[in-house]
Amino acid sequence: MIGLKKSPDWIQDLVDSIKAVTGPGPVALHQPFFGGNELAYLEECINSNFVSSVGPFVDRFEVELAKFTGASHAVAVVNGTAALQVAMLLAGVETGDEVLVPALTFVATANAVHHCGAIPHFVDSSDNTLGLDPVALRVWLEKSAELSGGFLRNRDTGRRIRAVVPMHTFGHPCEMNEILEVAREFRLNVVEDAAESLGSLYQERHTGCFGLVGTLSFNGNKTITTGGGGAILTNDPDLARKAKHLTTTAKMPHRWEYVHDCAGFNFRLPNLNAALGCAQLEQLPDFVKRKRELAAKYSGAMAQVDCVELILEPPGCHSNYWLQTIRLKGDNNSDRDAVLGALNDAGVMSRPVWRLMHHLEPYKNSPRAPLPVAERLEKTLINIPSSPCLAG
Ligand SMILES: *Cc1c(COP(=O)(O)O)cnc(C)c1O
Repeated sequence: MIGLKKSPDWIQDLVDSIKAVTGPGPVALHQPFFGGNELAYLEECINSNFVSSVGPFVDRFEVELAKFTGASHAVAVVNGTAALQVAMLLAGVETGDEVLVPALTFVATANAVHHCGAIPHFVDSSDNTLGLDPVALRVWLEKSAELSGGFLRNRDTGRRIRAVVPMHTFGHPCEMNEILEVAREFRLNVVEDAAESLGSLYQERHTGCFGLVGTLSFNGNKTITTGGGGAILTNDPDLARKAKHLTTTAKMPHRWEYVHDCAGFNFRLPNLNAALGCAQLEQLPDFVKRKRELAAKYSGAMAQVDCVELILEPPGCHSNYWLQTIRLKGDNNSDRDAVLGALNDAGVMSRPVWRLMHHLEPYKNSPRAPLPVAERLEKTLINIPSSPCLAG
């Protein structure tokens, strides 16, 4: 019977079960934790005078990131959005192309496509992973696109579809094997948006390392932070070189001449931010462990609450549980907003999932597949406090 009939008090039960985990005081959705060598490295960085986009902490951060993720190369940049924008260019995305993006994502994924002069083309998500659904993707491409001249074309718009961007929602890996298979069949390059999934594994390999390029974010609310920052991951040495070149104003190496061979970007991560990143990276395994413990605590506390379930990692995956997420078993916005009201009134900072991309003004006319799952997820997902310190 649980979940079939709503008890009148289910919302209060939910608030109580969450507060039983977070404690009595007000609690943030996600806050950074600086418990390691942050101050020591920042001091060292300032004393060295190398605070900008060149310096030993940048090199070290890149090496450590590559080691942790298993990618051959990591290129540190100013933020995750910049990382995605450059990743699109590395994947051959050109003005007038379309790029397949889940409708359920943070706006940065679509913005990065837009800023390349390309058009995001929205596709549906899976109920099991909250990420891009490979089955729905294949069905949609078989129906709406065709291979011609070695490229995939949107039959309706005539535009080339160049790439697909799986995103690991809230840290839970999506079905990469199946997505890679569809991408191979339809000649799409894969850019993996792993902004939320640092520390998450799919079949024992780190997310962000499956496609041609992957990207990370180190914004203040992500699993580790550099203040602001991001990285491009790739196993291709030529793409890594190109990423570094493009993000460093495309300056040709020379002792004194300013020669730039294309219109590059000033996207390199400052040494000061990389110093913070080196200290944070040392604590990453502990953060992930705590986030996983927090999920287990929430899951236990919510076991008896009607109408609600905690989202758990998909089978075969090891999730970083970046943002803890509950799913309401009802299917309408009024339940969701009542829960959000009750949680935030009780000092438990909570947020709905992002507004779907095609519901946003800049993307309302973008091409899109049917989005029944994403539409339902938009009405039923809520993020609850997720800081690693809450695990106790
Ligand atoms: C955070 C995030 C980004 C980009 O991050 P910034 O570092 O804030 O630019 C991109 N995609 C997704 C899905 C994110 O959650």
